[in-house]
Amino acid sequence: MSDYKLGLDYALDQDRKDELKSYRNQFHIPKDKQGDAWIYMTGNSLGLQPKQTKAYVNQELNDWANLGVEGHFEAKNPWLAYHEFLTESMAKVVGAKPIEVVVMNTLTANLHFMMVSFYKPTKTRYKILIESDAFPSDKYAVESQLRHHGFDDKEGVVLWKPRPGEELLNYDDLETILETQGDEIALIMIGGVNYYTGQYFDLKRITQLGHKQGCNVGFDCAHGAGNVALNLHDSGADFAVWCTYKYLNSGPGSLAGCFVHERHAYRKDLNRFTGWWSHNKQTRFNMRGEFDQLPGAEGWQLSNPPILSMAAIKASLDLFNEVGMDKLINKSKKLTGYFEYLLKQLGEDTIRIITPKRSEERGCQLSIQVKNADKSLHNKLTEVGIISDWREPDVIRCAPVPLYNSFEDVYRLVEKLKGILK
Ligand SMILES: *Cc1c(COP(=O)(O)O)cnc(C)c1O
Repeated sequence: MSDYKLGLDYALDQDRKDELKSYRNQFHIPKDKQGDAWIYMTGNSLGLQPKQTKAYVNQELNDWANLGVEGHFEAKNPWLAYHEFLTESMAKVVGAKPIEVVVMNTLTANLHFMMVSFYKPTKTRYKILIESDAFPSDKYAVESQLRHHGFDDKEGVVLWKPRPGEELLNYDDLETILETQGDEIALIMIGGVNYYTGQYFDLKRITQLGHKQGCNVGFDCAHGAGNVALNLHDSGADFAVWCTYKYLNSGPGSLAGCFVHERHAYRKDLNRFTGWWSHNKQTRFNMRGEFDQLPGAEGWQLSNPPILSMAAIKASLDLFNEVGMDKLINKSKKLTGYFEYLLKQLGEDTIRIITPKRSEERGCQLSIQVKNADKSLHNKLTEVGIISDWREPDVIRCAPVPLYNSFEDVYRLVEKLKGILK
């Protein structure tokens, strides 16, 4: 699909034709000291702030100022049910049914709560399979669950590794692991889109392979939510978790999402940790009596949630809802394809892209290996206004985000990189 062209005119023309072009203007784009907008390529780490976020948060601050505790019922968006205002839009973003989705806690916390329910080790089936380059927090969480249940945190982890000399993971290798050790594996927990390589896994295929061997299957979709079409319901996964501060632009440390498949919605036999927010809404405030579990993902909530953070999530999800994931992904594929096309002009002996080439196997991020580079390259990029992410030993991760990055951003990024590498 290489009807891409070189030159700035082409980039500007693509921006003019872009049906989502007006959305860039709905975000605060940070600027350098001269007042030039940064080329912001780290929406995969912390998404930019939608301009409307302030008004959404102020609404709740004002209601709190004017109503105090009455805001739980009387606020414009009554706080008691605030998380419900997010459920439908969030469910659309991740391809799930509303009963399967809740916004609560933070990402790693949700991962633990999900493992309380879906990691049920026995003497013979207790191992957890993760990808070898899993995000460190996920790895630590998994290891601590093993220790919590009295197992060895090295022996109990099964790694799905790339082949020697490769970065990407191969499904044949996963099949081999599952065929030979599947009956020892209690849980498969994979990052839906790998944070380092940008490889977007086939969630349905992994889930089916795992279920065939009797393993539970969950995904950390921190790098997938708002970036790719996750289709969580259709994947059949038992659970998924994700944060909202990366592609979902909801602010530093904002609350996380959680998916529990519909088939578990009414199960009472699953072990779980509970609090008053997992209890039946109608009788929650009677504050006595037997625990009566809420059905669906909501039944995993513990606490009454931070409304200010939820307001920021609502501001962002309202934008996603307006655009829709289909249009977003359509632009994303064009923009990242263009980025790849321009990078290739720099020559394969200078630059190697480790992210998969097929657009079905990646989101917007490209992970770029630059020959003989060290961190000084990243510093030089920062000096010229390119905000990217450096991973030792030699990888730059850049994520042109379709909601607010432009073809011109990508063009200028590659031009500046070319200048530095000369
Ligand atoms: C960003 C990210 C995290 C961060 O976890 P928090 O609990 O939000 O601090 C964890 N796992 C993955 C895969 C991530 O991409």
